[in-house]
Amino acid sequence: MKKDTSMNSNLKLILPPPDELTFGFITRSGTFTDGDLLVNKDGVRIVSQTDDESPPPIKPSDNHLSLADLDSIKVIGKGNGGIVQLVRHKWTNQFFALKVIQMNAEESYCRLVAKELKINQLAQNPYIVVCYQIFYDNGAIFIILEYMDGGSLADLLKKVETVLEPYLAAICYQVLNGLIYLHHEKHVIHRDLKPSNLLINHRGEVKITDFGVSAILANTADQANSFVGTYAYMSPERLNGDKYDNKSDIWSLGLILLECATGQFPYAPPDKEKGWEGFFDVMVAVVELASPSAPEQFSPEFCSFISSCLQKDPQKRSSARELLVHPFIKKFENFDVDLAAYFKDAGSPLATF
Ligand code: ATP
Ligand code: MG
Repeated sequence: MKKDTSMNSNLKLILPPPDELTFGFITRSGTFTDGDLLVNKDGVRIVSQTDDESPPPIKPSDNHLSLADLDSIKVIGKGNGGIVQLVRHKWTNQFFALKVIQMNAEESYCRLVAKELKINQLAQNPYIVVCYQIFYDNGAIFIILEYMDGGSLADLLKKVETVLEPYLAAICYQVLNGLIYLHHEKHVIHRDLKPSNLLINHRGEVKITDFGVSAILANTADQANSFVGTYAYMSPERLNGDKYDNKSDIWSLGLILLECATGQFPYAPPDKEKGWEGFFDVMVAVVELASPSAPEQFSPEFCSFISSCLQKDPQKRSSARELLVHPFIKKFENFDVDLAAYFKDAGSPLATF
């Protein structure tokens, strides 16, 4: 019988007794200090992962993280390929996000995909979610990631509906730095930039995750329609099957920002009630229609930024480096935007008991 690897047998679910649900179950004193896991009705949030008494944290270069050493705390997200769980390392108390992608393919092929995904492990930068380990085991690919306690930008959008320009500029600044690292230092195209692949935490950090994960799965899974979310942010040249480069990610960034500003995906589906039903509809809209633009209610700097990203001709699109010094980013540079407070006020969208 095939083992169910979506919840590995080595992983135990540890939950606090009901009377402790409103307090951190790692606190000894009942008062939160750095190093505590805050568990309340809104979700789970790490106050910090450092604690003088704990062993040194595991570094991305440590290559011996094993599933047997991880306790599962709870499922924090679901994507097309599988589930994401919050897990805790038994010996260091360090938290990670464990992504389990159930594969329905030949083992040799799955190992190849796992190898291809290892590109995620090679990127180390403050604006990129740390990927500690990727491996294939018993029908599933396991990815051990840095835990981002604010969830994704998609989760945030569900809470706040729209993001005001100063916050958007501060978020965008971090994403652009991540893209500059990927494009110009690692020479990697992300290929799957979308709100659910931009993760946030209580320190106000925004980091890029999942290079090509959905893209690889969408190419291989033969179930294109369940990947509408992935295709929706793809550039026209990619959807057309033409050659594409770094600028393809810039198109995706433009759509993400416009969606955050207006609260709506920039292309309206043919039937508003039903939303986007299939990837073909999205593809036709992106390839055939004129680029979306920011409505006039937004600042001229923001409108110009969006137009620099959403040029249908990739050669006319700005690069991440150029966008980092765009007047929209410069305008809010000295605003001292407190993203940590903004993300906290929005409420942790994750792990609600
Ligand atoms: P797709 O499968 O199409 O790529 P997705 O990006 O939403 O969609 P996942 O990457 O599996 O799918 O992520 C699902 C959700 O899990 C995210 O939206 C986010 O809420 C949560 N998540 C993913 N990675 C982490 C992480 N490292 N830390 C905290 N939460 C995470
Ligand atoms: Mg993802």
